[in-house]
Amino acid sequence: MTDSFPLPSGAWPELKPGWVWLCGAGPGDPGLLTLHALNALRQADVVIYDALVQEAILDWAPQAEHVYAGKRGGKPSAKQRDISLRLVDLAREGKRVLRLKGGDPFVFGRGGEEAQTLIQHGVNVRIIPGISAGIGGLAYAGIPVTHRDVNQSVTFVTGHDQSGETPQSLDWASIAKGSQVLVIYMGMKHAERIATALLEAGRPADEPCAVVCSATTPDEKVLETTLGRMAADIADSGLEPPAILCVGRSVLMRQVLDWQALARGEAPRNLDPLNRGRPAEAS
Ligand code: SAH
Repeated sequence: MTDSFPLPSGAWPELKPGWVWLCGAGPGDPGLLTLHALNALRQADVVIYDALVQEAILDWAPQAEHVYAGKRGGKPSAKQRDISLRLVDLAREGKRVLRLKGGDPFVFGRGGEEAQTLIQHGVNVRIIPGISAGIGGLAYAGIPVTHRDVNQSVTFVTGHDQSGETPQSLDWASIAKGSQVLVIYMGMKHAERIATALLEAGRPADEPCAVVCSATTPDEKVLETTLGRMAADIADSGLEPPAILCVGRSVLMRQVLDWQALARGEAPRNLDPLNRGRPAEAS
């Protein structure tokens, strides 16, 4: 255990030998880790981490062995089965194992599969949720994932399935009709196909969209566009994954809520992008 990174006093759980803690690391900024994640980092003998986990976070576990188990769409990477069985082996060796995954481990992260395999092999697990990129990443971009004047529901969608193709199992027409705001993970590769499917299902071509790349990291970039132009604008911009696509009018709120631009001294572009006046003061 390292004591270099103190935790607030309290009864923090002990990561026991032979246990695996499956933990979300948040979208990037190390400040978005939870205290349970920090508690885990301080105790682990081995940290098995994904491509989307910022390396700076590993500095908080200097005593541990760091093992990369990256999985990036289209690139050769450790197979899911191999990762899960490696976790089983490490646990059986009596290691204190921290499986660190980007965002939240149970949001498009195969955390459910890994935890199931561990439990099937009799290994004890603890799940530590994290801030998912589709919520926290959008917040860093100044986009509230829900807003009373925009949406009463939000749909999280994956743009890939296990084959790396757009998920055939997804009913894009119902998704298009299902909620006012869509948050699409892993959507860059198939942005054109996704946009076409949504347009064909009746979403308007001028619907606001944002592409939030490397959210919460020093490389964060945000593209504001419309559904009709999204694919072409992504191609022109040269933006790269990881990115969250957000489709819906909540993207307009960035005109007032781009807090990072405000912090740099820029003026808000539009104090009332939804033309609502000042509802909080009226009620
Ligand atoms: N479990 C993760 C998602 C894993 S799937 C979570 O809860 O956030 C990987 C996808 O997540 C990426 O393709 C991208 O769509 C999204 N993602 C993860 N980190 C991101 C980041 N910092 N910025 C933008 N998108 C990110």
